[in-house]
Amino acid sequence: MKAIEVAIIGGGPAGSATALSLIKHAFADEKQSIQVTQVCGPNSLRDAIGETIPPAATVELRKLGVSDLLSSDHHLPCPGSHSVWGNEAPGFNDFFFTPIGKGYHLNRRVFNEQLRSAAQDQGVNLLIDAKLTGMSKNKEGYSLSIEQGAELCHRRADFIVDATGIQAKIARALGVARNQYDTVVSACHIFDLAEQPNQPAHTLVCAVDTGWWYGTQLPNRKVLISFCTDKETLKASQINTAEVWFEKLNQSGWFIENCVSQFGMTINCPDAIDSRVSPSAILSCVIGDHWLAVGDAASSYDSMTSAGITKALAQGVEAGAAIASWLIAGNKHQLASYQQNVFDAFNQYLKLHQELYGAEQRFSNEGFWRRRLFSIQ
Ligand SMILES: Cc1cc2nc3c(=O)[nH]c(=O)nc-3n(C[C@H](O)[C@H](O)[C@H](O)COP(=O)(O)OP(=O)(O)OC[C@H]3O[C@@H](n4cnc5c(N)ncnc54)[C@H](O)[C@@H]3O)c2cc1C
Repeated sequence: MKAIEVAIIGGGPAGSATALSLIKHAFADEKQSIQVTQVCGPNSLRDAIGETIPPAATVELRKLGVSDLLSSDHHLPCPGSHSVWGNEAPGFNDFFFTPIGKGYHLNRRVFNEQLRSAAQDQGVNLLIDAKLTGMSKNKEGYSLSIEQGAELCHRRADFIVDATGIQAKIARALGVARNQYDTVVSACHIFDLAEQPNQPAHTLVCAVDTGWWYGTQLPNRKVLISFCTDKETLKASQINTAEVWFEKLNQSGWFIENCVSQFGMTINCPDAIDSRVSPSAILSCVIGDHWLAVGDAASSYDSMTSAGITKALAQGVEAGAAIASWLIAGNKHQLASYQQNVFDAFNQYLKLHQELYGAEQRFSNEGFWRRRLFSIQ
């Protein structure tokens, strides 16, 4: 019997979680053979930013059978966050008291590699440093052009998964609209530390007039400091230039004082500032004719929620099961409920976004804070 070919495009957490879940459900059926190929995208230094996951992420990793990967020395336990938001008094959010697991500051590059190699161990065919450059639909399914190094190869796929992150390359190529509600920009820099601080690695968050600061310890003696604002503020203030960014940081009061004491660092003006966007956006549909979108490709959240990786894993768990059910048993219900769940979660997220930004009233006359509040149904 000819194997069903599934191509997952994207080597981030959403692509790997979908691959692991699909393999798990597909192998449960002995009658139908499913081959899974994951096209892992070009390696990029820009992907190396570290990120924080809450305890809820460990629940999804357990479902995928890979929760052990967090116990490696590569990742740093995160006890929670300290924040100044809505008033001058710092608030605390402790992860220590949740029964479901710990939070972590990830070495993001290693985390992505760990998930991909777990998928490979389960029989997924990994194409590393490979890029989907073309795609066409025909009676047989999809015909894909993939560049890997200097080589261009062509493959067929019966089903294709868009796990390409916020660019949602496949959904867009198929003409699906992506609805964008908001975008914040992170102007950030990663500092090297002389030694790993001996204080617990709390995340620091602090609202100021034109945005909010975020500071976090990363594994390997590094600290990420980020100013989150919007394009309008960036244009007016040029806070993505190192001198202006550093001047603003020095005016941040509680935030800079706590960075210095908690991370044990002297902060000098960095050479350059990196910019990343974090859109609040969703596709008009996340399933279609032999395709599905997952992770940031399907829906993406403001980085303030620190929920992107957990969401990518949870969607991957559900997407893999739904694809297997459709390919093996012709059952479309799970695909339909996958889509409904992505939509419902996004609606809940929009309410949370409004609550979080609405909770900061001290700067309600400032453009950045006014622009974050929009009317939702
Ligand atoms: C500044 C910032 C801070 C953040 N902080 C946090 C945080 O603290 N905690 C948290 O949980 N989340 C955070 N996020 C969000 C988180 O990074 C994302 O939600 C998460 O990476 C989504 O995973 P994904 O697999 O959907 O997409 P991605 O991780 O973006 O992976 C997409 C993959 O697709 C590949 N790709 C793209 N095009 C092609 C192509 N043509 N062919 C092959 N491959 C392709 C890329 O190379 C990449 O490997 C943050 C985001 C930003 C911008």
